[in-house]
Amino acid sequence: MVKLWSSMAKRAMPYIPGEQLNRADTVKLNTNENPYPPSPSVVEAIRGETGDALRLYPSLTADRLRSTIADYYGVKDDEVFVGNGSDEVIAFSFMAFFEPGRTIRIPDITYSFYPVYAKLFNIPYEAVPLNEDFTLPIESFYQSEGGVIFPNPNAPTSLYIDLKYIEHIVEENRGRVVVIDEAYIDFAGASAVGLIRKYNNLLVVQTMSKSRSLAGMRVGFAIGHPSLMEALTRVKDSFNSYPIDRLAMVAAEASFKDQVYFEKTRRAILVTREQAKKRLTELGFDVLPSQTNFLFATHLTADAEELSVRLKNDGILVRHFNSPRIERYLRITVGTNDQMAILYERLQLHLKNIGALSVQKLL
Ligand SMILES: *Cc1c(COP(=O)(O)O)cnc(C)c1O
Repeated sequence: MVKLWSSMAKRAMPYIPGEQLNRADTVKLNTNENPYPPSPSVVEAIRGETGDALRLYPSLTADRLRSTIADYYGVKDDEVFVGNGSDEVIAFSFMAFFEPGRTIRIPDITYSFYPVYAKLFNIPYEAVPLNEDFTLPIESFYQSEGGVIFPNPNAPTSLYIDLKYIEHIVEENRGRVVVIDEAYIDFAGASAVGLIRKYNNLLVVQTMSKSRSLAGMRVGFAIGHPSLMEALTRVKDSFNSYPIDRLAMVAAEASFKDQVYFEKTRRAILVTREQAKKRLTELGFDVLPSQTNFLFATHLTADAEELSVRLKNDGILVRHFNSPRIERYLRITVGTNDQMAILYERLQLHLKNIGALSVQKLL
C-alpha cells in the first residue's frame, strides 16, 4: 500500500539507533547514555509534578527552564530555545535555516541523523571527507552554499577541535547558519556558546541526554541570536506547541541547579575514560584521544564486528558501524568502573581465543 504514502514518507531513510536489550544485566555501552542516575533532586522534582498539575498543558514557551539555562550560560532568555531532545532541536534547525536547493556541508564521518534530516526535508548535502586521522578539514567548511552542521566533539570519532577553528568556520559562512552540535561538550574543552554575541549566524545545540543522565526525559536546547530562536519557535509552533512536558521541564531545571552532583558524575566519567584508554591500549587497541563519554577504538589485528558480536553474546553492547572508513572501529561508551572491568575481562578472553592477543601485551 506504499502508493498511499506521501513522497516525504517514501523518501525517508529513518535513523537506526543503537539497540536496547531487555535484559537487566546488560552492560550497555552502545548509545552513550550516562551510567550514573540523574541527581536525586531531579527525581524529587519529577515526583512533585506528578499530581493534579498533569491536567494542565505545560508552559508554551518553557520560560522557567529557558531562564535557568540562560542563567547557567550567562546569556539572555531570548537567546535560548528548548526542544524534545536535541534531535528535535536539530530537526527544527534543518527546517528553520536550511533550504532545498542550497547544499549544506557535513563531515563524511559524523552523527548519522544529519543525512536523515537532509533527506526528509529535501536539503542537498555534501559529505566533506575528514582527514586521514579523522580530524576536521577546517577550510573545507568555508563558504558553504547553504550552511554547515557538525558536532564538536565529533561523533563517533570523539575528537574535539579548538574554538578558534569553529570561529573561523562561522566567520567564513556569514549569511548562512553554522550549527555546532555540542552533545558531548561537557566532557571536552570550551563551548562555542561564548561566541554567539559576536556571530548572529552561529547556533549552538546541546542535550541533557549525555552529561546530565536524562536521555529518558528528552530535553535538548539551542543557544544563539534571538532572531535564530524566533525562527526555531515559528517552526516549533507550527508543529507541536508543547514538545517539553511538565515532568521533563522540572527535571531539566533541577538538573541545572544541582551543580555539585553534575560535577561529581562528570569527573567520574573523565577518570574512567582515561583508565579505559590505557586498558584498551594494553589490549592492543589504538584509541583516539577522546573528549567525549565514549572511546573510538580499533584493534590492531582483531575484526571489530566479530568482537562486537562476541561481546553481545556476553550481554555487553558496544557500537559497530558498518560504514566506509570506520568498519574496523568500535565505539565504546564509558560506563561505571564495574561495567568497564567486565568489558576488559571479556575482551581479553575473546582476543586470546581468536589469537589476537600477543604475549607481550598480556601485562
Ligand atoms: C546523542 C546525540 C544527540 C541526540 O541527543 P538527544 O538530545 O537525546 O536527542 C545529538 N547529537 C549527537 C552528536 C549525539 O551524539
